[in-house]
Amino acid sequence: MSASPELPLQGGCGCGAVRFEVRAPFLSARYCHCHRCQHRTGTAASASARIASADFALLAGADLIRSWEPTGGLPKAYCANCGSHLFAGSLDADAIFVRLGAIEGDPGIRPQLRQWLSSAAPWEPIPDDGLARYDEGAP
Ligand SMILES: [Zn+2]
Ligand SMILES: [Zn+2]
Repeated sequence: MSASPELPLQGGCGCGAVRFEVRAPFLSARYCHCHRCQHRTGTAASASARIASADFALLAGADLIRSWEPTGGLPKAYCANCGSHLFAGSLDADAIFVRLGAIEGDPGIRPQLRQWLSSAAPWEPIPDDGLARYDEGAP
């Protein structure tokens, strides 16, 4: 299972302008193979973990955060300076999905499922890792 890293977890973007803290353990985590995640990340899938917005704190660079808001999808926040994706969802909402790649060190959780396999990239086989699989969005 997952490790139990010390809280708060630290995270941020690639250029270092945006910094944040995660102040409680992540609630769940998943890989998403949707087309939006492929475009957004430039690769086959994206790993994100859910946290209550109240347990997420921006420490620096709030003015640099931009958001892609696709029709019918959650806003996808990224750093305007370096393009690093940070989280999905509005900080005004109950919960957000933090990009695991934005966390420094062990996030203390492992992805538990793979969603949107119906749009998975043809060039990357889905690993036989025992994770739950969903053709569309997982609950
Ligand atoms: Zn940046
Ligand atoms: Zn996705």
